Amino acid sequence: MGVLNDKLKGLTPYDPAPAGDRVRLDANESFLPMPASILERAQERLLQLDYNRYPDPAAKELCRAFAAWYGVPGENVAAGNGSDELISVIFLGFLEKGDAFATLEPDFSMYGFNGFLNEARQVKIPKNDGRIDVDEALRLCREEHVKLLIFSNPCNPTSVVLPREEVRRLARDFDGLLVLDEAYMDFSDQSLLGEFQDYDNLLILRTCSKAIGMAALRVGFAVGQKPLIDAIKAVKSPYNVNSLSQAYATAVLESGEELDRALATILASRKQLIGGLQELNAAFPGRFSLLPCDTNFAALRTPEDETIYRYLWDHGVAVRLTGGVLRITCGAENENQAVLAALRAYFQEG
Ligand SMILES: *Cc1c(COP(=O)(O)O)cnc(C)c1O
Repeated sequence: MGVLNDKLKGLTPYDPAPAGDRVRLDANESFLPMPASILERAQERLLQLDYNRYPDPAAKELCRAFAAWYGVPGENVAAGNGSDELISVIFLGFLEKGDAFATLEPDFSMYGFNGFLNEARQVKIPKNDGRIDVDEALRLCREEHVKLLIFSNPCNPTSVVLPREEVRRLARDFDGLLVLDEAYMDFSDQSLLGEFQDYDNLLILRTCSKAIGMAALRVGFAVGQKPLIDAIKAVKSPYNVNSLSQAYATAVLESGEELDRALATILASRKQLIGGLQELNAAFPGRFSLLPCDTNFAALRTPEDETIYRYLWDHGVAVRLTGGVLRITCGAENENQAVLAALRAYFQEG
């Protein structure tokens, strides 16, 4: 086809193999269904929507609910159609063709993808077992004239969290825009949300798709000083978050008690999964190593990762193989048991 440029020719749609009726521990979603009490409250709102009207472009009520739950001012929040959309809006707005952006590898693949689409130049800064050398990262950013540094903290796929003091140092000493993707920070305690006002070059991303358990509705947020948030609002498409998602997510974010309970349940699942993996690690020494876990998923490193991935798939469990780690999302108790039993069987077979 003559109209496809070189940029488009190599691209294919994101289309993971359907997991069928396998146990789904592959996408880091919450395994918990929406609590009935929240469903009810949300439904009341949905009945009152003006379906003939466009959504509120500023998603004011939704941003207020997010701001109240996380303790930040509403005017410093922008909502997106998932944080994925906000990532693409940020790349589109803050980078010009040929600009350099830096990632800490391995990390979420959407960063590199958006840089590619915007014809920006990617500087890959390697991690060492999930850790980075902050001074070396800063030096590389200076040397390569990096305009935008983006990374997830805690990291997807390594599950490792970078301590707050190191992130502060990056925000302070990097002179470009720092985009801090805190998609998993509900599961950890090193957030910079409480001090975003200290930095005029910091955007923090959060999502409702992981701890909040609302991946289906596609809602994410950016938090930062007003000029940065206003820039995002100016670049994004006007009606980016639909009215159903705005109303629904508002009801969810106003349900703090249920959110706390859900988080505790997911953390208990994590304890079970990590505990089981540690037992396997002791029973089959040298077969795999387990990275420190600060998210809702475990990250395993092993030279057998591809064989294990396929074995699990063939035995009814979907996990993810990405960035050099085998990534296993915490599931319901029986789902954790299923993946642990399958792994044990695999290691016992040889
Ligand atoms: C899951 C994930 C997101 C995507 O979140 P959405 O709000 O569902 O788009 C963003 N960043 C990282 C690191 C993730 O793992």
